[in-house]
Parts: sequence; structure tokens; C-alpha cells
Amino acid sequence: MRYVAGVDIGNATTEVAIARIEGNDIEFLASGIGPTTGIKGTLDNISGVFYSLRNALDKLNMDYSDLSEVRINEAAPVIGDVAMETISETVITESTVIGHNPSTPGGIGIGVGTSVLVTDLPKITDSIDVIVVVPATVKFMEAADLINGAHSNVRINGAIVQTDEGNLINHRLDKKIPIIDEVRLIEKVPIDLTCAIEVAPIGSVVSTLSNPYGIATLFNLSPKETKRIVPIARSLIGTRSGVVIKTSQGDVKERSVKAGTITFIGEKKSVTVDVDEGADKIMDAIALIPEINDIEGEVGTNAGNMLDKVRRVMARLTDKHPRDIKIQDLLAVDTFNPQKVKGGIADEFSLENAVGIAAMVRADRLQMEMIAKELTDKLNVPVYVGGVEADMAIKGALTTPGTSTPLAILDLGAGSTDASIINREGKVKLVHLAGAGNMVSLLIQSELGLESFDLAEDVKKYPLVLVESLFHIRHEDGTAQFLTDSINPNVFAKVCLYKEGGELVPLEGIDSIEKVKKVRQNAKKKVFVTNAIRALSMVSPTGNPKDIQFVVLVGGSALDFEIPTQVTDALAAYDIVAGRGNIRGTEGPRNAVATGLALACLPQE
Ligand code: ADP
Ligand code: MG
Repeated sequence: MRYVAGVDIGNATTEVAIARIEGNDIEFLASGIGPTTGIKGTLDNISGVFYSLRNALDKLNMDYSDLSEVRINEAAPVIGDVAMETISETVITESTVIGHNPSTPGGIGIGVGTSVLVTDLPKITDSIDVIVVVPATVKFMEAADLINGAHSNVRINGAIVQTDEGNLINHRLDKKIPIIDEVRLIEKVPIDLTCAIEVAPIGSVVSTLSNPYGIATLFNLSPKETKRIVPIARSLIGTRSGVVIKTSQGDVKERSVKAGTITFIGEKKSVTVDVDEGADKIMDAIALIPEINDIEGEVGTNAGNMLDKVRRVMARLTDKHPRDIKIQDLLAVDTFNPQKVKGGIADEFSLENAVGIAAMVRADRLQMEMIAKELTDKLNVPVYVGGVEADMAIKGALTTPGTSTPLAILDLGAGSTDASIINREGKVKLVHLAGAGNMVSLLIQSELGLESFDLAEDVKKYPLVLVESLFHIRHEDGTAQFLTDSINPNVFAKVCLYKEGGELVPLEGIDSIEKVKKVRQNAKKKVFVTNAIRALSMVSPTGNPKDIQFVVLVGGSALDFEIPTQVTDALAAYDIVAGRGNIRGTEGPRNAVATGLALACLPQE
């Protein structure tokens, strides 16, 4: 009788399976899990291995010395990294204000008039339409008094305010007007020019200033001028309030940033594609090269810098020269990225087009041997690099009740999506593709403008609720839940993540469940549905995913509450039966490789 441990060092997680072997019988005793320390395939992994082993052994009251053999994975020899580049940029020249989302604009509606300083109002007696400009030096009481006291000839149709006191001013006005506040650089608003402001009712967005013909109507523009203001209208789409000022030269431009090209270098041919053309074109290009030797970005461009960064990080971690790092696969995804508008005056943001890229590099086996040697010394137990990861993953996945060969598995991890397939004769074929859980979180982080990656991970993993009262919440599927204890008033009326045990984590600055849900679901689809189909086409005996019948999903991302269903749905179109694995009937989609490694310790017939 001997005790063995299978240890799977992944990009994100190190998993352990401990089993007792007697003759040809194996009994699994415990699993362990912990974060991978350092980049997979480097000596930094060792402390993570100790941690995860300890995690499993503690459940059995056992020690390292009770083990007679440890097997680590022949690291699916890939390391993934992600990067993002913005490929468009909005620039305001001159002083045209564009829309922004102050938290509490005042009033509702549209106002058009000549911009005048609020302190100049007492001097005006002409019959004119004005928009008053209120700098921070004028307090809200004073501003309201000046507006209320203006000559009856003057029609005050709106106000632009530097502080956040728009509502305080409006409450004190005899006649309510739309007010845009929090315009930080108010000194940049030109005086004595025609301007139009629009404030939408709560819960909706500007409709006139975001429509080129709306602006044309307000300013009496010619067809030629109307064409020029299209970028202005576009930049106001989706904002709660906006200002447009008609200056002689003022202009908003959308510039496209030169993103550069990417070249896929294969055995026989190379294909070059322009990143500006978007993710689909990039993925079409990569599909033309069956065996990729390396992927290069154009020197001195965003694409070049992006791939260079990946190469340098990998070189440092694996102790190689960047020249010797070969990028083996790449997943490109169209995304957008809120960026501060250059030349803006109220910290305006504009959603710029961006391309997200996940890249994958081949690591070598040597590193795993080094880890095994070091572990053998430290544990005083023989440690082997055992079995190709894909074989092990299949061995493990086949412990899912109801499965048998032929079978394909999709291992949805953090850094890569791996597929392998076993035929009736036991032959295994595999691929590793760039792009997995980390890429999904990166897309969520950038599209929602979240400050940390960790928060994006949580947005990925947990459903949303809206706290509608202190005693009930509305789940994202529309169901209401009433609670017996009152909710912390700090989260009242906020969109929150609904974590384990009903814990509510507010998403500050985010007001729409729908928007977050859409970004989250699209990010998952763009990465995992794309990669599932790509991977299965590659391992299918005919190159067509249709010729695969059964697929088991394993890996951390298969724990997700949406990804498995998205993949199952997408694969149903190919008549494939796909579902989340349940390793050993108990472990869910986790622990497949570790389980396979422990099984590989059985005496071979
Ligand atoms: P690896 O084999 O690369 O170490 P794992 O199989 O451990 O990767 O998967 C890690 C990925 O799984 C991460 O991207 C993580 O965000 C994701 N993940 C882990 N738990 C969950 C969960 N409950 N829901 C969604 N994703 C999850
Ligand atoms: Mg893994």
C-alpha cells in the first residue's frame, strides 16, 4: 500500500489529488487547492506546491513523509499574458464642450443662448436668450439671486456651473432651467458665443445633442456644417447631459491611432494583418497558418509594443533572451476603453475602440524537471514529471460519471484554453490556445473602467442585484427577494455584486445592471465561445467540430455561472453534447489533471 499525490501547477491554481494505491486499486482520499506562486513552470512555483499539498494532507492528518510518490504535470507548456491597446482617440480642439455625466445635473430639457458670465447679468437689458456661466467663485445663493434678478428682457435658458451645486441653484430659482454642473475647467468655456445645453431626465440620455440633425436644428447649420459635427453628436451618445458651443474653429475629432500590423509566421508562409481592421480580421488571418512558429508586431507601433511586452515578461521569467521567446497563439478581441478626452474641460470620457490581445508562449520541459528535482530534495519524497498534461486531463475527465471514449475535453483555465481528444484506441491529440479567464476579466475591467483587476474578477464571478429598499433586493433576472434583516443603508439604491452568503458588494459609480450584465456576458462569449470552437476544430479528426460527439468542460472557468451554458449552447449548433465535468463524481470541473496524475501512479499493464 502506498500514498501518492498528483500535483497540477496551472497558470492560476495549483491543485492536488491524494490517493491510496493497493495493487491495481486506487482510492482517492483528498483534494487540495491553492494559488500558483509565480509564473507557471518556474522555481517560484514551489511554495505554492507546498501550500496545496499541505491543504490536502491536513484533511487526512498526514505529513509529506507519508507520501511515497509525487507526480507533477509536464506543464501544458504554455504561459499566457494579456494586453490591450486603444486604437482610436477623441480630441477636442478649441473649446467645444462635449457631454459628461455629472452626478446631479439640475432641471431638465434643452436651452439655447449666448454664453454670459453670471456676474455680467445685471448689465444686460437687451432682449436676448442666454446661457449663464457660473464659476466656483460665485456661490449658489449668489448665483440664484443674480439669475432671479436679471432684467425681464433677458431670457435665461440654462446654466453651466463649475461646482457640483447645480441642484442647489435650481431649487432657488423662480423659473427652473436645465443646469450642467461639475464643469471643472469652466474658464475654457468661451463667452459670447451661441451654445446649447441638454439635460435628460433621470434614467435617460440626451437625445437632441446626440443627433446630428438635432444640433443642426438648434444652430441652423448647413449640410456641410452638419457633416462636421457628427463626431460631436457621437461623443454625446449615452450621456445624461451635454453642452455644444458653436465656435468658429472649434471641432471635435476622432483620430485613429496607428495600431500597426501583426505578422503570423508559419512553416511555409506568413500572413500580415492590420490591427485597425479589428479582431475578426486578425482571427481570420491566424486561421490561415496551421503551425505557427512565431507572431511579431510591427516595430514602433502599439501592436509591436504589445507583443514586445509579452515577450520581455516571458523572457525575464524563464531566464531566456527575448529573441528566443516564440509566441505560439493569439486571441484578439474587439473591445472599448473609456479614455479621458484630450482637450476636454469637464473630465469628459469617451469610449474609444480598442483591441485586446491574449498571447501564449511555449515554455520548456526543462523547467518542470528543475521543479521536480528541487521538490524531491525539499520533500524527501521522489517527485516525477509524470505524463503529458492533456493525457492526464483526459484520464481525470473520464472519471466524470457517464463519460467514455471517444471524448474531447475543454480545459478552461486562467491563461489558456486547452482542448484534447481521445479516440477509441486511446490516442490523444491536443492544442493550447491563448485566451481564457484572465482575458475575460481584463475585458470587463477595461469596458467598465474598473480600477482593479480583482474587482473585475468579482464582476465576472458574481451575479448582480439592485438594492431597491432597505428590506428587498432585485436580482438581475428580475426576481425580488425580501430580507428579514435590514440592509446596510450605504448600499441603498446601488448596483451590487451578490456574493456567497448574501454579502452585498456595491459597484460604486455604476448605475445600470443591464450594462454590466451585457459587458460581462459579451466578454465571456468573445473569449470562451470563440476559443471552444477554435480549439475543437483543431482537435477534431476531420477539422470540423461537428465530428466530435461528447465534450466535457473542466478547469476553473468551467465553475462560472454562465460560461458552461454559453459554450453548451454554442456547441449544440454543431450537434455536440457538452457539459460541465464532475471529476471523480465529487470534484465538479476541478482537479482533472491532478486526478489523472495520481491515476498515472497505478502500475502500468
Ligand atoms: P489554471 O489551470 O490556468 O491554473 P484554473 O483551472 O485554476 O486555471 O482556472 C482559473 C480561472 O478560473 C481564473 O480565470 C478564475 O477567474 C476562474 N475561476 C475560478 N473560480 C471561478 C468561479 N467560481 N467562477 C468563474 N470563474 C472562476
Ligand atoms: Mg489547468
